[in-house]
Amino acid sequence: MRAPARPTRCAVCGREARGFGYCHHLRPDRFPQYRFCSMRCLDAGAALANRNNGMIDKTTMETQAIKDARRTLAETLTELGLMAPFHDRKAEDIDRIIEACIDGFRDSMQRQAAARRADNDLNDPIPF
Ligand SMILES: [Zn+2]
Repeated sequence: MRAPARPTRCAVCGREARGFGYCHHLRPDRFPQYRFCSMRCLDAGAALANRNNGMIDKTTMETQAIKDARRTLAETLTELGLMAPFHDRKAEDIDRIIEACIDGFRDSMQRQAAARRADNDLNDPIPF
């Protein structure tokens, strides 16, 4: 049985990549190769790489994305009437909640993708 291939993650959003790729100047010997889930992420990733010598600085992007997600979390907490306990919390506490949700979501997606691949391998009619 083949070892299940590791899922490739989108270089922008972290979802499972789906056949969209980018390499600066089409030179994989000089620049990293990135995979993306969609044309939207490919366009965003290519624009970032073009501005940064072929590299996508994911750490900066993730930090900004978590900061941006504070607003939607606050809106949802307000809609549910749950904002009061969070109102005086530090930004780092709010970011921990957001990161915990993202980590749980990603871990589940990776587990499900690996299980699906293992299932496909077992059902593969060609035994090698
Ligand atoms: Zn993506």
